Amino acid sequence: MIKVYNTMTREKEELKVVNNKLKLFVCGPTVYDYSHIGHARTYISFDVIVRYLKHKGISVFYLQNITDIDDKIINRAKENGEDPLELSHRFEKEYLEDMALLNVNNVNFYARATEHMDEIIKQIEDLINKGYAYDTETGVYFDVSKFEDFGKLSNRNLDDLQNTRIEVDTTKKDAKDFALWKKQDEKPYWDSPWGNGRPGWHIEDTAITESYFGPQYNIHGGGLDLIFPHHDAEIAQMEAASGKEPLVEYWMHTGFLNVRGEKMSKSLGNFITIKELLKDYSPEVYRFFVLSTHYRSPIDFSDDILKQAENSLKRIQNTGNNLLERANSEDLPESDLSDILSELSTFKKEFFDAMDNDFNTPIALSSLFEFTHKINKALNDNSISKDSLDLIVNSLRIIEEILGFSIIQEDNLGSDLSDDLLDIITEVRQDLRAKKDWDSADKIRDKLAELDISLEDK
Ligand code: AMP
Repeated sequence: MIKVYNTMTREKEELKVVNNKLKLFVCGPTVYDYSHIGHARTYISFDVIVRYLKHKGISVFYLQNITDIDDKIINRAKENGEDPLELSHRFEKEYLEDMALLNVNNVNFYARATEHMDEIIKQIEDLINKGYAYDTETGVYFDVSKFEDFGKLSNRNLDDLQNTRIEVDTTKKDAKDFALWKKQDEKPYWDSPWGNGRPGWHIEDTAITESYFGPQYNIHGGGLDLIFPHHDAEIAQMEAASGKEPLVEYWMHTGFLNVRGEKMSKSLGNFITIKELLKDYSPEVYRFFVLSTHYRSPIDFSDDILKQAENSLKRIQNTGNNLLERANSEDLPESDLSDILSELSTFKKEFFDAMDNDFNTPIALSSLFEFTHKINKALNDNSISKDSLDLIVNSLRIIEEILGFSIIQEDNLGSDLSDDLLDIITEVRQDLRAKKDWDSADKIRDKLAELDISLEDK
């Protein structure tokens, strides 16, 4: 049984799956600049969640929108002297490239807001016809006073809405009403029953999900910052338009990637783009770093923690490669001389229990780490049979697929420098052995073993 923390109920609930199918929607980016590693944190988290659900045999349809028209896009395009849609499609391409580099590859369909104008207009019409929205000189607005439950996801009330990002507009009945359609004659605009204009902040998501999933679906995800007012507005729009509730069964939200306690964001200027990060670290290291924290917890970003993640991953990969090398060697015991298979089943149980428990990747990774220690010891003792080696390699291949980074590679030491350093250490140790300084030689072997590097004395 998989348990999922549902933001709506503030509880972990059993994930109920009907006919082995799940419909998942995660809010995509507003594409007016390069994506930063905070965005990547959210999308890597959902990528692993989907990988795990698929591993469990569930067929997941994962839909993401692309906000390719928005105030931020228009403002940036003005600054650049560029066409807004050219700008947004340029950064959409960059975003998709970044995701591919990070091995985030489980989204089934990316839906651009600008390609769903008919659906957006139709949903606004439904809301007007049902008395939830009204038309003024400046736009069409959702009348929040008509939707009794407004704020049921965030548990915030209408007064809070007054303090958030709501346009000041004297034509609105109430300052808290939010825009569904913004009238404008400056390009880019789309034709509508209310005149030229473009959609408001929230409506593209419900128009898109309604057209692919219908008025109700299983899981909606996004970062913590989207709960209010964005996701509360989505609930109001879709439940009002369809008369059906709930809009979704499970709401899942990722914690922030912070820098010195503050959310990494473009507006604060404290961001590192994915492209910048990948100049210094491999995509696998960043995935490992993200997964070392539970998806709902904040991560405090620092270079030191990233370096630690790099070292930890290197150790795991060293073990993976030693394992593979040994599996291909001749000199192996007929049967196990250690209880490595029972260690394997303990590891698998811990790993899958952690993932079943609201996708607890840090616990899953620490059980993987523990298991690699056991493997190293058994490899040092040459106590694993060929069959067991193959079994372990196959199990780790499954784990790699779920986590989306490699554990077993052909060449894992990461850099020529690591290779060279290891050669030097091995040579010094041989000299010590030649001088019969067994204590020093053993000390080096033991220290290397702590790093999961095993040396064989021939
Ligand atoms: P945006 O393009 O700002 O709409 O963000 C796209 C997605 O990335 C949303 O789900 C945000 O919640 C998420 N996001 C933005 N900044 C961060 C951050 N610092 N940490 C985690 N997720 C973030």
